[in-house]
Amino acid sequence: MGFSGGYRFKNFEGVAETVLKSLPVPGKAVIDTGSGMYASMKMKMKILVHEGETVRAGSRLLESGGDWSHAVPSPVNGTVASAGENGIVIDSDGSDSLEPVSGHTRAPWELGHDEVFGLFCSSGCWMLAGRQFETPGECGSVNYIIISAVHNGPLDQAWSPEMFDDPALFTNGIKTLKALFPQAKITVAINKNSKKYISSGEADVCLLSDKYPQEHPELLSRDTVQRRLVSPEGTTDQSVLVLNYAHVIQIAEVMTLGRPCVDSILMVAGPGVSQPGWYRVRTGTPFSEIKQRLLKSDDKGPWRIVRGNLFSGVGIASPDESVRPRDTEISVIREHAVRDLWRFMTPGFAWDSYMKATAAEYIPFLPKRLDSNLHGGERPCVQCNACDEVCPVGIYPFLIWKHVMAENTEESFRFRPYDCIGCGLCDYVCPSKIDVSPAVRQAAELYRETRRADEVSD
Ligand code: SF4
Ligand code: SF4
Repeated sequence: MGFSGGYRFKNFEGVAETVLKSLPVPGKAVIDTGSGMYASMKMKMKILVHEGETVRAGSRLLESGGDWSHAVPSPVNGTVASAGENGIVIDSDGSDSLEPVSGHTRAPWELGHDEVFGLFCSSGCWMLAGRQFETPGECGSVNYIIISAVHNGPLDQAWSPEMFDDPALFTNGIKTLKALFPQAKITVAINKNSKKYISSGEADVCLLSDKYPQEHPELLSRDTVQRRLVSPEGTTDQSVLVLNYAHVIQIAEVMTLGRPCVDSILMVAGPGVSQPGWYRVRTGTPFSEIKQRLLKSDDKGPWRIVRGNLFSGVGIASPDESVRPRDTEISVIREHAVRDLWRFMTPGFAWDSYMKATAAEYIPFLPKRLDSNLHGGERPCVQCNACDEVCPVGIYPFLIWKHVMAENTEESFRFRPYDCIGCGLCDYVCPSKIDVSPAVRQAAELYRETRRADEVSD
């Protein structure tokens, strides 16, 4: 099935520069121990350090039980300030020396399968896969690996693999994946407008649409290997593994060069970022430190910091939240609480409109602004069909929304709310500023609950 719907963003304030820089080692690192990432992967992690202990960047902080030890390395050198169920806090000494990965080798693909799997787990690379493989045998369940090199959000339009310097890293990452997942067919997915960048020769290449949200895992799976990633009932196809391009680079750095798995490679972009671009950031870096180093001052804001994509990410509730290993993006937009009166009467030099009703659409050198404002507030649905035109999975969001609003949610099931991937485009383009996608999500959840209840009663 080809890609339909979606949206092509042009010329926004705060687009990331195509350059990878490193943030200095943070003054403090905050590592999740149980409630967040590992719990969602159903992993029980044992804490190996205690308050007052000195740790080295790369030494083990946490590890799983069982025959294959899945480790979490310390991202900084320093002293453990606290360690418990709510997390580990390390006061960093600011030095950037690293303890090399034990057992790393120039060519991990020449190791036996058990050995390469052991290195993958003990080095912390398992965290980049986003799912737990408990034993080497479980790697055999993966038949497709999709590497996402797709970039088409409002803030990441000028991406290039050249920012990672050494092209051999990507090739070595792919060879390592082949050794880990010998049954898997590996496909690199990239936008049509970036096809010149991929020539690894180590994997298939699939050219995809330049429209957002083609980087969404569900669409990547559908359009590269023609598999449905999440079923209507909500179960995930375990034969498909989707990795980000930067994760493959990191796997090569860790397993072939011995750099411990202590970084996140993040796009930090948006109008609130002083130098929007790509950053190598130590995991555990608190958002307060990202704010201090990379964000514009609050008198130019205030700023809303979003972990993840602008439309589907989650706002940071506390500056003590910290960067996680699989984070790929931080978006920062202006918090704009004051309503713009008569906005629709203005020419729109700085704002985007799906309806092409703004001056900015025709004057491309004017950067368009992104902020949190509803710009006039919610109005009734005018049945303009913008939401169903952009919906990348071909459903009718406004029909589902209407049934949910009428408390007639079960009637909406025939419009397939369970196909929604939560990209948020319907909310973005709606001229009436209706929160369409939360209603679609609500209908999908009810559908899944109903199906589960039916299965129990059968
Ligand atoms: S209904 Fe879901 S998939 Fe369709 S545009 Fe809205 S959020 Fe995206
Ligand atoms: S975009 Fe908004 S106004 Fe237009 S049909 Fe969808 S919900 Fe209604």
